[in-house]
Amino acid sequence: MKAAAVFPEKQTLEVVQDFPAPSLDSPTGVKLRILTVGVCGTDREIASFLYGTPPDNFPYLVLGHEALGEVVEVGPEVTTLKPGDLAIPMVRRPCHHPECVACRADRPDFCYTGDYRERGIMKMHGFMTEFIVDEAVYMNPVPAALRDVGVLVEPLTIAEKALLEAVHVQARMPFQTPRRAVVLGAGPVGLLGAMALRNQGYEVTVYSRDREPNPSATITRAIGGRYISSLDSTIDQMATAAGSIDLVYEATGASQLAFDVLKVLGPNGLFIITGVPGHHGPVAFDTDAIMRNMVLRNQCLLGTVNAGKDAFEHAVADLTAFHSKWPDALQGLITGRDPIEKFADPILHPTGIKNVIQISQ
Ligand code: BGC
Repeated sequence: MKAAAVFPEKQTLEVVQDFPAPSLDSPTGVKLRILTVGVCGTDREIASFLYGTPPDNFPYLVLGHEALGEVVEVGPEVTTLKPGDLAIPMVRRPCHHPECVACRADRPDFCYTGDYRERGIMKMHGFMTEFIVDEAVYMNPVPAALRDVGVLVEPLTIAEKALLEAVHVQARMPFQTPRRAVVLGAGPVGLLGAMALRNQGYEVTVYSRDREPNPSATITRAIGGRYISSLDSTIDQMATAAGSIDLVYEATGASQLAFDVLKVLGPNGLFIITGVPGHHGPVAFDTDAIMRNMVLRNQCLLGTVNAGKDAFEHAVADLTAFHSKWPDALQGLITGRDPIEKFADPILHPTGIKNVIQISQ
């Protein structure tokens, strides 16, 4: 089979032509024909040889952790999926330490040891290939109507896990809390987060670099959000326009911006960080102001990495809702589709909002 791979030693990106085809040998296994695989910032880091680890005894790592596939075969004990169904495979697999209560509870997204593995990222091949096999517990069914956009489920799980946690954190207040959110960044993670927040009734301001008109601003407005360019408005001006901020959903990986915006978080606010910054060295911060605000305003700072099964299920349900509410905005997130032979192009030279690799139809 063909597979899109990164060779960290050689520092090359290549389509491997003879990647071994997987066979279904577990009674609870599922075989998928891969349709579409999304490309994201993590793939870019891996393709720059800064992150990611091949499986043992392989000189390469097959990329791809945002995938949509069609079931072609299931083991005799599988009841959740059948051939012809669409499915999204999950990314993380548990560590093997008996004392890791998170992994033992099937929540490797909360792994304590750091020895989890991730398909397409950490010690396991990914989904940018023709067929994959995995256990049914790691496969999430997707309605046929989402064939064109189902590849967005995995990046949406980032927001879904965050919002599931937000419900728990904000339940600390024994009253109905106001719902005014700011999203930092208008890439796919930010815009999917904005959609999830709008869908929950939040008033949403997206704060991002590019000036209008641009496709991300158009999508923000189409879902009833406000778009503010950081080239035109300072953080204080943005905060004045947004009103008292109850929730920030950070999706840029820019740490200085994040902590500068933390200073304008409103009373009882929750600040969720999802970006993974590179190592750019220390910067100076007014830590007194931040700590004073956090205490006197009961604020919370929450980091989150995706995702459990509940987040995948919510993502499928929400994507279905977005698809009926905002079909054009949702389709508009996918701005490029390339064949596997060209997988390196959108990774090395990203354009538009979300690029995907179309492996088969
Ligand atoms: C993936 C997550 C993964 C994280 C860190 C993200 O791009 O969506 O599943 O845990 O990278 O490797």
